Amino acid sequence: MSEWLTAQETARQIAQGELTAVRALDTYLTRIGNLDRQLAAFLAVDSTGARAAAVEVDRKRKAGEPLGPLAGVPIALKDVLVTKDLETTAASKILEGWKPPYDGTAVGKLRAAGAVIVGKVNCDEFAMGSSTENSAYKKTRNPWDISRVPGGSSGGSSAAVAAGLCSASLGTDTGGSIRQPAAFCGVVGIKPTYGRVSRWGVIAFASSLDQVGPLTRTVGDAALILETICGFDPKDSTSLDQPVPKLTDALTGEVKGLRVGIPAEYFSGAIDDEVRSAVQRAAAALQERGAELIDISLPHTELALPAYYVVAPAEASSNLARYDGIRFGKAAKGARDLLDLYQRSRGEGFGPEVKRRIMLGTYALRSGYYDAYYKKAQQIRALIKRDFDKAWQHVDAILTPTTPTAAFRFGAKSSPVDMYLADIFTLACNLAGLPGISVPCGLTTDGLPIGAQLMGKPLDEATLLRAAHVIEKAVGLGDKRPKAVA
Ligand code: GLN
Repeated sequence: MSEWLTAQETARQIAQGELTAVRALDTYLTRIGNLDRQLAAFLAVDSTGARAAAVEVDRKRKAGEPLGPLAGVPIALKDVLVTKDLETTAASKILEGWKPPYDGTAVGKLRAAGAVIVGKVNCDEFAMGSSTENSAYKKTRNPWDISRVPGGSSGGSSAAVAAGLCSASLGTDTGGSIRQPAAFCGVVGIKPTYGRVSRWGVIAFASSLDQVGPLTRTVGDAALILETICGFDPKDSTSLDQPVPKLTDALTGEVKGLRVGIPAEYFSGAIDDEVRSAVQRAAAALQERGAELIDISLPHTELALPAYYVVAPAEASSNLARYDGIRFGKAAKGARDLLDLYQRSRGEGFGPEVKRRIMLGTYALRSGYYDAYYKKAQQIRALIKRDFDKAWQHVDAILTPTTPTAAFRFGAKSSPVDMYLADIFTLACNLAGLPGISVPCGLTTDGLPIGAQLMGKPLDEATLLRAAHVIEKAVGLGDKRPKAVA
């Protein structure tokens, strides 16, 4: 079996008896064994649990029992997704050794569909970052150039899929953490509409922004996995009670009459020329197939970054209060009393970026400052959402670059603000609760992948997938594979 087989094709071959689930799993386990020492995408490989799941799929097939749509497909999970009896750390020392007693909803849906969970992949600590350099455990490398970052915070998810270490993965996206690493590693990543996928069993970063979504090698695989994990969940009070769309049917190859907005604010300023031209080629490809390109303006775009860096840390500071050394993970040794235990456990357990966010968030929420920061940021958020609402009167989707540059080198972003700027094009989508996808649209002259981002109306993932599928066929990476693993 080729490690580059799509998830859709893997599921089909297993269902038809042309391939066994055990064979598919072994293909990836062997590859992880050969390559992951260098790439460091995985925090934990669950060969025992994965084998048991694969054996069960093969048994069901032999017995003629019905198989789920992802039966036998090996999938890796970002380590912020809670997995029963399988260590879940959020790439933080404070959760080292924590084995959750349950599966999160999205994980449960994957298992119910027959997916084989291969293991947990690396990320920035508590999903805070854009390069996976903030992991407390290891630095994941970009398979296209191992001197560069895979993006973040879902960098293990993007690197593992790009390197063919699994069929697909799940990540989470609070301000770009699925789309940005997908762009850096030349894979597809989709952040659904806020509320589409349950956040139950997802370690919370910023609850009003977080969403789970797939990272895959094709748009078709993204559609298949997203339609499997989405749907109403009474366990998540922000879950949307909406029918589950059949997203795989959306990939018709047709974009005739589709109105695609090109927002001026995303094509000016500090953006790499090669990125700009690649995204313009993606736009031209849509136009050639009958889409209409419409110049639009999203005037509050430049306020997305400052608003996000008040809202996200504020919510994070509240969410992270639960890590006190008692309820989850490790307790510090040698504490004199309860307060000392809290202080030592949090002091030793959290890394520098997490502490920075807690301080920013606590500051913004202080009494007397609330109106000046959190409330103001929420007002800006409403303005950003209004920009999009106005745009939807004229367009069906919006096309932009996913990132201003291709993947950067380790250590290249020396200040936190420099790092925050890596997500400048992805943040607004989360603030407005909209769906967004990144699809590869070419390589730089250095051979690094470039991503095009499409943002859509609430609940309209289908249109994004349909347009991304056309871009993939016209200007995608085709059979080009990352150098480090070819
Ligand atoms: N890079 C952004 C941050 O650090 C977004 C992270 C994310 O989407 N999880 O907050």
